[in-house]
Amino acid sequence: MKTIYADNNATTAVAPEVVQAMQPYLTADYFNPSSMYAAAHSAAEALQQARETVARCLGGVAPDQILFTGSATESNNTALFGTALANARRQHVITTAVEHPSVLEVCKEMERRGHEVTFVPVNHRGELDLNAYIKALRPDTLLVTMMLANNETGNIFPIAEITRLAKETDPAIVVHTDATQAIGKLEVNLTGNLQQVDLLSFSGHKLHAPKGVGVLFVRRGVRWRPYILGGHQERGRRAGTENVPYIVGLAKACELAVATVEEEQTRVRALRDRLEQELVARIPLLEVNGAGAERLPNTLNLAVHGIEGESILYELSAAGICASSGSACTSGSLDPSHVLKAMQVPFTAIHGSVRFSLSRYNTDADIDHIIAVFPEIVANLRRLSPYWDAEKMALKNV
Ligand code: PMP
Repeated sequence: MKTIYADNNATTAVAPEVVQAMQPYLTADYFNPSSMYAAAHSAAEALQQARETVARCLGGVAPDQILFTGSATESNNTALFGTALANARRQHVITTAVEHPSVLEVCKEMERRGHEVTFVPVNHRGELDLNAYIKALRPDTLLVTMMLANNETGNIFPIAEITRLAKETDPAIVVHTDATQAIGKLEVNLTGNLQQVDLLSFSGHKLHAPKGVGVLFVRRGVRWRPYILGGHQERGRRAGTENVPYIVGLAKACELAVATVEEEQTRVRALRDRLEQELVARIPLLEVNGAGAERLPNTLNLAVHGIEGESILYELSAAGICASSGSACTSGSLDPSHVLKAMQVPFTAIHGSVRFSLSRYNTDADIDHIIAVFPEIVANLRRLSPYWDAEKMALKNV
């Protein structure tokens, strides 16, 4: 049976071009880029070129503002703790209720260490409560950290506007954005609409590079201090021997992402929209989490009332379809997703969420197959559900 991979917000297939670009640095050019001898020069050169490529892909920023890390989780930890280290007198942090755990848990840890954190809520569509954010901003705010796009629902936050409001309150407020789900799906331009953003994180494995490599953009002049200490790599700002092959792969993936971002916006969006429309038309009481809000073109998060997301995933898997019931990092726990909770998704649907997330490798045939099997899976599971009235095709009054 063919596997249909529709879980690209969890991770992506490594692009063949990326594997090819990495290959020499896993074999012949395995040297440490910091070594002095001539044999190591091509590794050092590849590292520099990768930095230039990533800088170009982010809108043409100066390459020395790009740090390579081990993941977006590391980039986020480094952004937040590094900002706290550099600004001991400021204690107030603003974030949202729907961040990825690699931001949310750091914010909670900062709270335990004495910071004051405001978690700005979202509405039922997953849109940021801008008024609550404006009220939260203070001249002594240390940091605003908000994601560009949500991994579970695909909701896009207006980071340019959020940054402008912070800088108007006080130019010294550091603004960080987790762009992990945005790169390759939206235009991310640090010399254009995001030119005031100070720190930006993302990860290779969401854009067809391998897992275990990430980027932290640190704008020149921002009050931030290195967090991973040790060697002099990355000009002393992130110690540890650089993972040259993965960094080369990430740079190649960024190049491909920039070249295909238009396609994501049109072809992938059309696939997602068809999937959404057909499923909503065929399945009673099916809602789209985040409907009506600005969303990533590849993401479809469905609220299937009356049944468990986990059982749906199991049946989808049996049909060869890979999807997710929330973020992969929190699956394994039976708690409903903090994102859907923050959106106040009703009790009868919060356990029944399914996320399909597409990539440029998905085809029309993939969508046809999902449309062919998903409605029946839902109907069968609802037949067994104590919450579902099969005759009325509606939820029971329980
Ligand atoms: N932020 C967001 C929005 C994510 O979706 C993810 C991955 N699920 C991460 C951060 C963490 O990325 P990594 O797996 O590279 O640590």
